[in-house]
Amino acid sequence: MTMTDSVPEDPRTDAGLPALGSLDTITYLSDELVRVIAPNPSPNTLDGTNTYIVFDSAGGSALIIDPGPVSDTHFENVKSVLDQAKSEAIGIFLTHHHLDHSETATLWSQNLGVGVSAFLGRLVFGAGRVLRDDDVFELGKKVIKVVGTPGHVNDHLAFQTDSGHLVAGDHMLGRSTSVIAYPDGDLEKYMSSLIKVRNLGSQIILPGHGPEISKELSSGVIEYYIAHRHYRLAQIVSILDDDVPLHVDDLTRKIYGPALPESLFGPAKQSTRASLTYLVQREVIEVDEDERYGLI
Ligand SMILES: [Zn+2]
Repeated sequence: MTMTDSVPEDPRTDAGLPALGSLDTITYLSDELVRVIAPNPSPNTLDGTNTYIVFDSAGGSALIIDPGPVSDTHFENVKSVLDQAKSEAIGIFLTHHHLDHSETATLWSQNLGVGVSAFLGRLVFGAGRVLRDDDVFELGKKVIKVVGTPGHVNDHLAFQTDSGHLVAGDHMLGRSTSVIAYPDGDLEKYMSSLIKVRNLGSQIILPGHGPEISKELSSGVIEYYIAHRHYRLAQIVSILDDDVPLHVDDLTRKIYGPALPESLFGPAKQSTRASLTYLVQREVIEVDEDERYGLI
């Protein structure tokens, strides 16, 4: 296990990241890719959930990835993008089951007459299908590949297009770092998924929340995400080095400090539990019956 004591730096900090809430609702990222932001901004969802529309290069058909939460305005915005391109949706793909990405999937499926496809069978609807790592789909002449990226949650998928984009869901975010949603989320799987995405080479990363990550910055941001997780592990070991066993709540407060807003305490605690589980499995720390953790 590699551990680092220095605070890793996000390469986006100096690269002029657009301010939170300043992104346009509808953005044409390329001729074949449009981002539509749902009206659900919050500390957990940043600017709101990103719905992506991928167009077939010849025109006429489109795939919707992560329709997001139920919202009439959001549906109208997505529909207007489809109408303007004189395209029809042919399917809905989901990156994962969290409601901010999937809640409206069935409703849109019925409104648009298309199926919902996802990793979890319970999310598949109508003419949709179960998706697996390495599955390949053709959208006209366009090729879309499924990239299994478990870790944030176990059913997480990303979608790679042949135009050099990766629709990344919550595996990576446009600002800050992602949450490991323990117990469904798993730190070891999450780190393996980061390495897997890194090995795909530089590409434009389109996260589930926040702005796109440029091709130039993409590998640096992945390295930052990996370093950030190692840093959190090192923080836990150094805090527990005082020899006093600590409960997960106290550890979370010590790791994230007083600046952590109360609304983010839950997600921070989930990520901390994921780190603790990782360290317990490696016999670096142990846990007692009161759920207090200490070094072995
Ligand atoms: Zn999300």
